[in-house]
Amino acid sequence: MLNSFSPSAPVDGTCSLGRLSTYHVEAHTANDVQKTLNFVRAHDIRLSIKNSGHDYFGRSNAANSLAIWTRNMKNAQYHETYQARGCQSTFENVGEVGAGISAQEAWEFFEPLGMLVTVGATGSVGIAGGYGQGGGHGPLGPMYGLMVDNAIEFDVITADGQARTINACSAAEDAELFWAMRGGGGGTFAVLISYRFQLHPAVPLNVYSFQASFPIPDGQLNITQSAVHRDVVRALASNQALFASHGMAGYNFVLPDHMVSLQILPSTNTELIKNITSTYNKFLTRYPSLNIIENTYYTFRKFSEWYAFAQTPSIARNGPVGVGISESGRFLPKRLFSKPESVEKLVDAVVTAMQFSLQHGGGGAAQLYATGPFSHPVNSGTGVNPAFRDALWEVIMGGIWTSNTPDSIRHQIRNTISASVEPFKALTPGGGCYMNEGDWTEDNWQQTFFGSNYDRLLEVKRLFDPTGLFNCWKCVGWSGYDE
Ligand SMILES: Cc1cc2nc3c(=O)[nH]c(=O)nc-3n(C[C@H](O)[C@H](O)[C@H](O)COP(=O)(O)OP(=O)(O)OC[C@H]3O[C@@H](n4cnc5c(N)ncnc54)[C@H](O)[C@@H]3O)c2cc1C
Repeated sequence: MLNSFSPSAPVDGTCSLGRLSTYHVEAHTANDVQKTLNFVRAHDIRLSIKNSGHDYFGRSNAANSLAIWTRNMKNAQYHETYQARGCQSTFENVGEVGAGISAQEAWEFFEPLGMLVTVGATGSVGIAGGYGQGGGHGPLGPMYGLMVDNAIEFDVITADGQARTINACSAAEDAELFWAMRGGGGGTFAVLISYRFQLHPAVPLNVYSFQASFPIPDGQLNITQSAVHRDVVRALASNQALFASHGMAGYNFVLPDHMVSLQILPSTNTELIKNITSTYNKFLTRYPSLNIIENTYYTFRKFSEWYAFAQTPSIARNGPVGVGISESGRFLPKRLFSKPESVEKLVDAVVTAMQFSLQHGGGGAAQLYATGPFSHPVNSGTGVNPAFRDALWEVIMGGIWTSNTPDSIRHQIRNTISASVEPFKALTPGGGCYMNEGDWTEDNWQQTFFGSNYDRLLEVKRLFDPTGLFNCWKCVGWSGYDE
């Protein structure tokens, strides 16, 4: 491991590749990818595909592999109208990006054209790789859907080296591949070259930003007994169905000693957010023992302005890069937000999970994201976990360590974070988790990450990658991928 704070320096004297790929092909064109696939097939070499390298499970690396590095496939294009291959209807305002475009590069290209892109919270994440093939939620998710919901057409190279343009109008098998690559996960079915997707005419992003610190009680903090923790989580949960009905997104961080709560409403009506959040706002501002740090409404006319704002106080905590991190997560479905009794169970689960994490070295933070596609009805056109659509919150428990943290502590953090999600699992039997923000030690991973789509996704994998050329995270029965 490298030193997180000085990345060119190894932590101890010896530097080795570990599980990083041995060789990389810096791909610039579809032809580079085709040639690489043909080469690895001919020589029976293990392959991996890497874009930004942000994948929490490390799926963009594989020991002893040749990596196709897509980061420099940087083309971007705007189509005022676009005719997808084989489709009758025409799409308007279509974006097209190469496999290596990051979220920030995407909005910097489309913002001057007056268009919004359904990116996530962090500018450095790629939009066409693991994000755009695994789901892709963000501040525009409730209003416009996931990145995969906005996908219109992909150019891909399949394991046999064949270039294909795939969309919902393609002939049967290619349409299945398109379905699978809209949510079934990156690095699994084919190498994506170009991603065409729906853009949205720009509207202001109206934001309610609330931050407060909590009084720390004398003696040891027990979050399950802490009125302030229970009360703020209850207030948020009780308002969440209302927020969701307006397509409002939320990033909420509840920590042992403070909270950050951001609500985001894309709308030309810049006052509407004040009405929607008035009950929540009144509750927070009148609550006696909150030390309010910020209680402000903003209107950002450009996405880049929102991003600059969000990085300073709050979401920046969401984007640590260069540190070790362990996450576990769960989708919390609508039904849990509908009645006071079920909200109370939700509150119990949040404070129990936080207390467990705090007590066992995980830090005690809970992230409550309302950035999913809850306003977008079940869309059979995507292979994404159906549990995503039914969820008002995606809860994430996370713990971080630096390269100086001793192994024993790292293990402890990992075990704590894995176990801290149990109260949410107990509330959501048969439920799920976002595959890009979950726990790689998850036992019931087929159901948890893929839901009812698992068998169909596996069939597409068998069809297009029968020899398991592409990394297949825990594909049952594939040899050579056990590590
Ligand atoms: C700091 C940070 C913030 C995040 N914020 C969000 C967020 O707001 N919303 C959200 O939904 N997710 C978020 N994520 C999770 C993110 O979606 C995943 O990490 C995702 O896998 C990143 O995709 P990538 O292509 O950038 O990364 P990589 O690690 O390079 O690739 C991820 C996976 O996709 C495959 N892949 C990459 N490119 C291709 C290609 N061209 N063709 C086929 N397969 C490919 C890789 O093999 C790998 O399996 C965040 C992650 C981090 C680290």
